[in-house]
Amino acid sequence: MTAEYYTQGNVAVITLNNPPVNGMNFDTRKAFVEGINRALDDDQVKAIVITGAGNAFSGGADIKEFNTPQGLAEPNLHTLIDVVETASKPVISAIHHVCMGGGLELSLGCHYRVGSKAAQVALPEVKLGLLPGAGGTQRLPRAVGLELALKMITSGASEVVADLADTALFDFIVDENSGAAVVAGAIAFAEKIADVRPLPKVRNREVNHPHLEALLDAARVQARRGFLHAPLECVEAIAAAAHMPFDDGIQFERQAFYRLVLGAESKALRHAFFSERAASKIPDVPSDTPTRPIKTAAVIGAGTMGGGIAMNFANAGIPVIILETKAAALEKGLATIRKNYENTRDKGKLSPQLCEARIALITGSLDYATIASADIAIEAVFEELQVKQSVFEQLDKVMKHGAILASNTSTLDLNKIARFTRRPQDVIGTHFFSPANIMKLLEIVRGTETAKDVLATVMALSKKLKKIGVVSGVCDGFIGNRMLEQYVRQAGFLLEEGCVPAQVDHAMEKIGFAMGPFRMGDLAGNDISYAIRKRRAIERPEMIYSKVADKLCDLGRYGQKTAAGWYDYQAGDRKAHPSALVDQLIINHSVEVGITRRDISDLEITQRLIFSLVNEGAAILAEGIAQRASDIDMVYLSGYGFPIHLGGPMFYADTLGLRKVIGAIQLFQQGHYGKVWSISPLLHDLAEKKLKFNG
Ligand code: NAD
Repeated sequence: MTAEYYTQGNVAVITLNNPPVNGMNFDTRKAFVEGINRALDDDQVKAIVITGAGNAFSGGADIKEFNTPQGLAEPNLHTLIDVVETASKPVISAIHHVCMGGGLELSLGCHYRVGSKAAQVALPEVKLGLLPGAGGTQRLPRAVGLELALKMITSGASEVVADLADTALFDFIVDENSGAAVVAGAIAFAEKIADVRPLPKVRNREVNHPHLEALLDAARVQARRGFLHAPLECVEAIAAAAHMPFDDGIQFERQAFYRLVLGAESKALRHAFFSERAASKIPDVPSDTPTRPIKTAAVIGAGTMGGGIAMNFANAGIPVIILETKAAALEKGLATIRKNYENTRDKGKLSPQLCEARIALITGSLDYATIASADIAIEAVFEELQVKQSVFEQLDKVMKHGAILASNTSTLDLNKIARFTRRPQDVIGTHFFSPANIMKLLEIVRGTETAKDVLATVMALSKKLKKIGVVSGVCDGFIGNRMLEQYVRQAGFLLEEGCVPAQVDHAMEKIGFAMGPFRMGDLAGNDISYAIRKRRAIERPEMIYSKVADKLCDLGRYGQKTAAGWYDYQAGDRKAHPSALVDQLIINHSVEVGITRRDISDLEITQRLIFSLVNEGAAILAEGIAQRASDIDMVYLSGYGFPIHLGGPMFYADTLGLRKVIGAIQLFQQGHYGKVWSISPLLHDLAEKKLKFNG
């Protein structure tokens, strides 16, 4: 069933029915038009109500049909809108729960709209680097006014129907948010207006505003702030609605839509959208794999990560106990959590009641016995194998049968950690990113012995904690930090060869990175990477690193925490100020290691850094550490501030062409540190065959 049809008295009701959100796929569109024609042909029918089955009017286009011929096949959305707008009988849209994208554009083509108070409406296309291409940019400003239309279309955010009561979007608002109530309201409304002519059309309304040009200019300034083109195209299409006759505006919108849909930016954003969905699929762990209930949790260690991890559980309503060795560390950790929640409350982002409720879900303990019955224990103690060993031996002793034992280690061997217990099948890595209560990424590390239901449970938990879970196999640094090691290494070599930190950071930030490598190092703490380098120097003595970072740490310049790192910082301020001392340290170091410094272009900087990610990403893919290239992209987009308009490192390499990437690496191989580049066989093979990482 794709669109149902029935009549009640003189009113025909057409119900979109394509679970879960009545996406308008080909069959649904076809059945919808048939329904409209049937109602128009029936002399008994005086008015037509359209609505959606279940808990949605419609979520818009069916994502399964994205990029397929079916998605564009007739009758397409334009045709549907045309059919309702030109119908000789009144068509009333009955909107409940959610009405998004094409669903709202279809409703805007109707003569009337009836909505339930709590329903949400949105035109979210901008989030995929697009604009609403079926008249949304032309009709919404005519229905809700210029200001609100600019906000909704350029942000893609949803609005609650009750908040739109003052606009011309809704003709009647129903209190109850159910399909039945809103359809009943729409039928009653239809009976009243059945004979009113002419039929009102949104397209015939005008876009007026006393400060029209000023508003448009302000929106343009705002839209130009980021790295994306779609918001500005949205503003220009809305400007067209204000300046042009309706049909010309529609043409303007259509051209802008095609520009965007064929452009690299939207392709990257759509790749990110589909990658997020793909990441939750694990080929040998089907979606119906049973999961273990997670009703209570424990976190070991109340430091930076432990506190943030505990907040995730509290935010999801799951009680959590934090275990520490010393009372002082526990008190400090709990106080930080309280302060974090209170800051959010003071900013008005959390109600006082919710703030207290969340704090109350987090309790502290110094005794392992208190956590024995928790469904999951996540260890976040110091990054030292011996400390992890003692914690996992304790957990093995006390935790109930079937409890999940997780480690937040960033670099250590999860398989070794698992073997500290007699139940390696219950051990898994949950690698949160700092600040753990904010960052979206959760690398889920699958040990060789991790049970499938444990993996399925943690995957499901990641959704509950509102994280993007990406599965990684076991290796030093997992997906993200293993690639980052190569990136940071190149950044160090760039300093020795001629750059200063600000130049490198600026080059990366100019193309959209949230932070260049040196600002990132100062934020994360240069001492942490120093400790990791020392360990790796023992495990992998053949690895060459620039020694500049070590010299920086030897001066106690650990980053923001010591108000000095690659940059200088002023008290209470996170702004990075270039340091003459550090720049001189770098220049002296180049002399010491016998390198003649040279001018290095921004292109060389960005390519060396990004291609180091790509090359290591290829190795990670070939080894099966990542399940698919898009998982690597997801890790970098959601955990490392990689620019979304470039779609992630692997997608970016695909976009450039892998032969071009190899050509650039071959040039780097001739540079001072050229020998550190060894082209991944997978990258080489794909390039030879003119293939891509992402299918
Ligand atoms: P931290 O030093 O801030 O906190 C560690 C806490 O563990 C301290 O409060 C300490 O008192 C406590 N602790 C030490 N031994 C303990 C024991 N035996 N039992 C109970 N508590 C004990 O460290 P962190 O930055 O929160 O890192 C914790 C873990 O998370 C490490 O494995 C680290 O590699 C990983 N990690 C850190 C980050 C980051 O950005 N900081 C990011 C991802 C992962």
